[in-house]
Parts: sequence; structure tokens; C-alpha cells
Amino acid sequence: MAATVYLSAAVIDQLTAAQRVLDEHVTSSASGYCQRCHLAGPCPANEQAAAAFARYGRLPRRTPGATRPELINARRFAVRPDRATAPTFAPIRR
Ligand SMILES: [Zn+2]
Repeated sequence: MAATVYLSAAVIDQLTAAQRVLDEHVTSSASGYCQRCHLAGPCPANEQAAAAFARYGRLPRRTPGATRPELINARRFAVRPDRATAPTFAPIRR
């Protein structure tokens, strides 16, 4: 049974501020440095904001592409289910 957890307005404000910090202090995939303060990532601001989420058992919102993966030639591609491991719902004819 799942329990419902309510957060106070103060905690929600704290997590909103922490999310803003995480959105700004992103570690670059290419250099490994924070894109905002240019320290080796994750920078202290990023770690402090991440700790706020951990404290309340929440996960921050992730922005795909924020770490600039294209700088290391990482590309997105669609993945099809593997036929060998995909569940089979019809009998296999041999
Ligand atoms: Zn930073």
C-alpha cells in the first residue's frame, strides 16, 4: 500500500529553489565542469541542491540535453524492443 506524503509550502519552496540551482549548475558532458560557475562538476551549489531533494526523498526534474552531450558526439536514437527478450504473446510455430 502506498502512503501519501504531503510537503509543507516551505519545503515546496525549498525544492523549487533547489531545482532552479540544478537547472543552472549543470555539469558539461564535454568538459566535466559546471556550465555556470566553471568548477569541476558537480559543483558545491549542485551538490547542495541535490541534497535538498535527497533529504525529502524526491527526485529533481531532469532536462534532456542540458549537459550538452552533442559536444562528445552523443546522439539520440530510437530503441526497438529486442526480439530475443521481448515477451511473446502468440505461440511460436516451428
Ligand atoms: Zn556550479
